[in-house]
Amino acid sequence: MTVNFTKPQLSPDELTLHLVASGIVKLAESLKNGKAPTLPYPKELQRGLDRLVLNCLRQGRKPPQGVPELLCWCRRPLTEWHLDLSQEDLGVADKLLDGQIPTAICEEWAIASSDIEAELTQKQLLLNVMSVCRLADTPDSYVQFRRLLISQLLLTAFELLQICTEPLLEKLEEQIQAAYEPAPESYAVDGYFHCCAHCGNLMLRTVQGELICAEDRCRAKNVSKSGRQISQKQQVIWLKRGLRRFIAAPGCAELRLAEKLENLGKSRLQVNLWPDFDAYDLRIVFPDNEVWAIDVKDWANPFLLAHKVRQQNPLIPSKPPWIKAYFVFPDDRSEQRPDYLRAFCNHCPLPKQIKAKFESAFIKDVRNKLQRC
Ligand SMILES: [Zn+2]
Repeated sequence: MTVNFTKPQLSPDELTLHLVASGIVKLAESLKNGKAPTLPYPKELQRGLDRLVLNCLRQGRKPPQGVPELLCWCRRPLTEWHLDLSQEDLGVADKLLDGQIPTAICEEWAIASSDIEAELTQKQLLLNVMSVCRLADTPDSYVQFRRLLISQLLLTAFELLQICTEPLLEKLEEQIQAAYEPAPESYAVDGYFHCCAHCGNLMLRTVQGELICAEDRCRAKNVSKSGRQISQKQQVIWLKRGLRRFIAAPGCAELRLAEKLENLGKSRLQVNLWPDFDAYDLRIVFPDNEVWAIDVKDWANPFLLAHKVRQQNPLIPSKPPWIKAYFVFPDDRSEQRPDYLRAFCNHCPLPKQIKAKFESAFIKDVRNKLQRC
């Protein structure tokens, strides 16, 4: 993922969905410490509700009667909301809430317009880290910082102390502290925080007493299983939401792809993560010196992704230079949406030198190219 500041344009019904999603995310944030919802509700939620009510009345349909009913709507597929969005823009199963938890789709809609706080915090923090590393001329520190956020969603006070003394990270202590916040007490069960064995994220206990991962991908695949347990006494901190969603989650796919390419190339392929302070995600140099640039995109909704990518200008920065570039999507996104690639390409036409492919198809291209070198 790369950093950019352009303002997006949303259609009226997209804006309604964006406002409701932003409101839901804010509401969930305020509830995470176990507090009851306090009135007034987030203003985005109220504005989104007002727009939705108007829309229903215009169509002669029964609108949600207030926020509690809107929350019930959020647990139903968005396709039932009768918004003016094409079937392609919405996945058939897309909804905003999974029980009490905002879905990844919800967070993507929330971020569809750039005024949301979390995105700003995340961008400011990364820009700040970049400027420190640029000034010290230590691009490796920048890469190490990104790796930290991706691989350590939770830290104890002691681990934090150790990390901040690592040579590559010692200049970034302030920024590391700013990236995390205390893990919410409401997630602790009998004095312990439980981490998902699959992704490392915090798990929470449902009203039925079952432990589930905070990451909806794990819940969707039913792979969340309790792994590491950390005592509350160890002063546990958790990566902030915007960084979890927009750095750590896609970062796993970036690191995994980098590793695959390194194994595939057996030192014939030069692989660099986040070259030139995150110009793009990966840069690979073939034995014949041909360079490819890769931007890994891990979004559940291809329409929202296309919307976001269209705002990138240029689509992929031309420096450090490359001949061919790819947007690469993790394979499992096609299991959730078989029409993913078509939906993305329809909404985001690409120039000839940039392609969009799933991870396995991209790897095949790399392998073919290597054989020709
Ligand atoms: Zn998980």
